[in-house]
Amino acid sequence: KYRSYPYEHMLKIREQNIAPSLRMYYKKPLLLHQGHMQWLFDYEGRRYLDLFAGIVTVSVGHCHPKVTMAAQKQLACLWHTTNIYMHPSIHEYAEKLTSFLPDPLKVVYLTNSGSEANDLAMFMARLYTRNFDIICFRGAYHGGSPYALGLTSIGSYKHGVANGIGCSTTMLPDVFRGPWGGSNCRDSPVQTVRRCSCSEGVCHANEQYIEQFKDTLNTSVPKTIAGFIAEPIQGVNGAVQYPKGFLKEAYQLVRERGGVCISDEVQTGFGRTGSHFWGFQTHDVVPDIITLAKGIGNERCMFRQLRLLINLKIANSLAQNLHFNTFGGNPLACVVGSAVLDAIEEDNLQKNSKDVGTYMLLELAKLRDKFEIVGDVRGKGLMIGIEMVTDKDSRHPLPSEEINQIWEDCKDMGVLIGRGGLYNQTLRVKPPMCITKKDVDFAVEVIHTALEKHMGKAAAN
Ligand code: PMP
Repeated sequence: KYRSYPYEHMLKIREQNIAPSLRMYYKKPLLLHQGHMQWLFDYEGRRYLDLFAGIVTVSVGHCHPKVTMAAQKQLACLWHTTNIYMHPSIHEYAEKLTSFLPDPLKVVYLTNSGSEANDLAMFMARLYTRNFDIICFRGAYHGGSPYALGLTSIGSYKHGVANGIGCSTTMLPDVFRGPWGGSNCRDSPVQTVRRCSCSEGVCHANEQYIEQFKDTLNTSVPKTIAGFIAEPIQGVNGAVQYPKGFLKEAYQLVRERGGVCISDEVQTGFGRTGSHFWGFQTHDVVPDIITLAKGIGNERCMFRQLRLLINLKIANSLAQNLHFNTFGGNPLACVVGSAVLDAIEEDNLQKNSKDVGTYMLLELAKLRDKFEIVGDVRGKGLMIGIEMVTDKDSRHPLPSEEINQIWEDCKDMGVLIGRGGLYNQTLRVKPPMCITKKDVDFAVEVIHTALEKHMGKAAAN
């Protein structure tokens, strides 16, 4: 038990001394004590299966022994240098990380957060192209810093003050909730059950969404643009998938207008999608810049750092003058980053994401088929969204209060799940990649029980 700071006392401190914008999950927020791989333990000794892993921050598992050891060893030696000196760790790490990437993504800039990396990606896109406008998707989350907030297009993160000027939002090609989409549209073992809007069994959703994208390019922005940013699967908005082929065509259109293509791999990178190491590879494209965070540092604030991987030509645009970062690339962060990459390979986590993720998607699809309020199950590997609706025909989002109860019940039964979507209607499943099929069976049973309870209540009402 945590004796020196009783729970109620901490709640009081929270109220008085911690910014209220940092909201907590659950009616009675969890007081965590320890993490081990896919498990979290609270101070009462209760164990939770972490299906959210702190918004995909823990890729290889909480306190993974290899990563912990690497950090401990480095901590006793040297943990802070600025980039003005050399240390082997940053060189080893830059070499290792870029070995996972295709040409021309061979240059790393190490920063401190996802928001900062996306800020810098925008900055470089503008410097390189000498254009200003950046296009992003509706429903995107790319960070909370004033600059990156311009790319974030979710109302609950906006504050009604000027931010990130020069960012234009375009229609999200969401094959479940958008105006077009149907069977075989997306790259997932589970297809949407919404009735296809396309004729004679042939899906034209991609063409329709591309027309909308062209419309933005032709009518809402100047003839030349600085760039386009997108996640390969949209994370915070609830694992939203685009029709197959969309990003490839969109990249071409952007490049025809002089823009660079930025892939935000904060959630989709490091093998999470299972079939590939990077999310962009699932769309058969090569971006000009990719931004990474979270998973690579395995979520330790102190050494969390984001990497910006850049095409050399674009990187050179920033070298015309000084650009400096105090903590980016510190030895502690770099040894952790290297250990995470090693653990992904040694523990075969990309394959595990594929096998266990596919198994989970198929098991969750059975819940979708059984319960009218489970509108969609989608995703790839261990990046999964379960979209809750009032009914499959209307696809209206299930009211938040109703989802809240299901979600709280899952927690009470020992399973932590994320939330997302423009209407907060989607349960987000992004566990550490070491999760097993046995864990999946447990999680699916818990979700099933929570849904049955909800349906029982709904019938009684
Ligand atoms: N991009 C994406 C896709 C994210 O999910 C996040 C964080 N949720 C960020 C950028 C911002 O990262 P950070 O919180 O490290 O600033």
